[in-house]
Amino acid sequence: MSAPREPETMRAMVFEGVGQPLRATHRPIPEPGAGQLLLRVHACGVCRTDLHLLDGEVPIASPPRVLGHQIVATVQAGGEGTSAASERDARVGVPWLGWTCGECVYCRSGRENLCLRARFTGCDIDGGMAEYALADERFCFSIPPEYPSAQAAPLLCAGLIGYRALSMCGDAERLGLYGFGAAAHILTQVARWQGRRVFAFTRPGDRAAQQFALALGAEWAASSDEPPPEELDAAIVFAPDGALVPVALGALARGGTVVCGGIHMSDIPSFPYELLWEERSVRSVANLTRHDGEELLALAPRADVRTHVTTYALKDANEALADLRAGRFTGAAVLVPDGSSNATAS
Ligand SMILES: [Zn+2]
Ligand SMILES: [Zn+2]
Repeated sequence: MSAPREPETMRAMVFEGVGQPLRATHRPIPEPGAGQLLLRVHACGVCRTDLHLLDGEVPIASPPRVLGHQIVATVQAGGEGTSAASERDARVGVPWLGWTCGECVYCRSGRENLCLRARFTGCDIDGGMAEYALADERFCFSIPPEYPSAQAAPLLCAGLIGYRALSMCGDAERLGLYGFGAAAHILTQVARWQGRRVFAFTRPGDRAAQQFALALGAEWAASSDEPPPEELDAAIVFAPDGALVPVALGALARGGTVVCGGIHMSDIPSFPYELLWEERSVRSVANLTRHDGEELLALAPRADVRTHVTTYALKDANEALADLRAGRFTGAAVLVPDGSSNATAS
C-alpha cells in the first residue's frame, strides 16, 4: 500500500475581503467536476471590474475568491462528460460569463448575458489569478493561433464586452470613446477596420493616452472636458465616472446613443431634458454572450487587432491593480504565472 499522496498545490492570489490586498497563497490544484476542464493558466488579464470587486462596488458573495476573468490557458484534464475536442494542451480562453442556467427567459431568448442565475468567473467562480483554474467547457473559447497568450488575454473582457458595446452603436460613423484604457485600445482598431471614425477622450492631461489613441487610428484625441470637433453619432463611456454621461450626451448628433460599458459607475448627475431630446438615448451593456465572444475572436485576427500589454508576475497582482487604478500604463495589464514583471509594453 502506498503512502497517501500529498495534494499538489498551486500558487494563487486570493480576495479575502473588501479593502484588503489580494493574498498570495498555496492551494490544492482543483479536480475537474462533470463538464469542467482543469486548465493551466498562461495569462490572465487584469480588468477595471477587478478594482470594483476589490472596492466592494461589485459584491463577491462568498470569499475567499480567486479573481481574474480573462484567462488564457491550456487544457490539462477534463471531467466527466467533457468532449474529446478539449484535448490535452489545447489552448482556450475563459471569459467573465462562467455559467448560465439555460432555462430562464433571458437564456431562452439569446440574452444569456442577462441570465437570472448567471455565475461569473473571478467573482462567483474562482478565476485565473492562479497557476490552475477550472472552467465549464461550454463557456470556453478557442484562442486564435495568431495571438500569444498574454496578447490574447485582453480580448476576453476588454475586447469582448467592448465589442458588445460597439454593436449597440449600430452603424454610427463618428464614434466617441470616453476613457482610453484596455477596452478602447482594442475597440479603436475594430472600429477603424469597420470604417468608423474614432474620437478619443482621456483623463484630463493624459497626453500618453492621447498619443496612444492617435497611434491606433483615432483621428482626434483630447481630454474628456473638451468638446469634439464635430458631433458624434455614438459614444461609449468606459470610464466609471457618471459625470461623463451628460457630457457624452451633449456631444451627440440627433438620434445618437451613449452606451455605458462598465459594470459600475458613480452616480449620473441630473441633466436638462434637452440633452436627451431628439431621440438621443442612454443605455448600458451587461456582460457578454458566447456569441459575442465567437464573433470578436473571429474578427480580431482578420482586423489585425494588436493588443498592447504590460505583463506582471502573478505575485505582483496587487501592483498591477494599483497601476491600473492610477493609469500608469497604456493598453492592458496581464498577469503571467510563469513570468516576471515587465513594465514595458509590447
Ligand atoms: Zn438563465
Ligand atoms: Zn472585465
